Amino acid sequence: MPLTNASLASIEDAASHSKPEEILTALSGAFGRRAAILCGMQRAGTVLCHMAASLGLAMDVLFVDTGVLHRETLATRDKLAAAHPSLRVRTLAPAATFDEQVNREGVLYLTKEGQERCCELRKTDPLRRVRGEYDVLVGALRRDEGGKRAGVRIVELDREHAVLRVHPLAATTRAELDAYVAAHAGTEAPVVINPLHRWGFTTIGCVPCTTPVRPDEEERAGRWRHLADVSYCGINPTDRESFDSRMTDAEQGRIGRGLERFAELLRPA
Ligand code: SF4
Repeated sequence: MPLTNASLASIEDAASHSKPEEILTALSGAFGRRAAILCGMQRAGTVLCHMAASLGLAMDVLFVDTGVLHRETLATRDKLAAAHPSLRVRTLAPAATFDEQVNREGVLYLTKEGQERCCELRKTDPLRRVRGEYDVLVGALRRDEGGKRAGVRIVELDREHAVLRVHPLAATTRAELDAYVAAHAGTEAPVVINPLHRWGFTTIGCVPCTTPVRPDEEERAGRWRHLADVSYCGINPTDRESFDSRMTDAEQGRIGRGLERFAELLRPA
């Protein structure tokens, strides 16, 4: 039977009664190193990495370096890799440098259509090139980010990348994230935090498309501020209008077997 988001309902229900740490542990037990964390070095992502490392899980952390990130974000990646040696931080990069892209296609991010192509080339495509290496990508999307994220599921299929997307922090609020970070501050193993957050960047992306956010604005107001009606890059299926369904039977079978074990581990006898 083909895997669908509807067929994941019972696992979604079990996951919704589990803590983020329990979900991470079950994922690692079921999928081993074929479960990786996708982290853009924003706070929720680095909290996820901290949780995984604190649990002693050996996982890859995939970081997409678009070539136009703040130097603080790159430094955060390096700091995180040093702080959590059980995690293998893997940097994925676009095929062309940003300059090569500008020479060839112009400054794409100045229009909505151009932004879609730029994000496709610099964010989605690098991730697409590791298709087949992982069965699960663990992300840090949260419902209280609002917008399309308000309905994010803990477990969903991403057919384009042939993986299961899992968001253990889906129900975690901003206040709960604050509390997690505060609880580990001043310890031997604090959460690695991108300093841009302290400088007013509530979310963090590429330099040309990210600004600080006023206290009265929504969390994602600083993304693509120069473009009307653009809030997401499209690297997450939750944020896309549509995506093609190209998962093979073999890919579905592999993910399905891991899912059975994941469900068992989420609900121990
Ligand atoms: S966020 Fe902006 S610069 Fe970065 S990939 Fe997307 S359009 Fe290009």
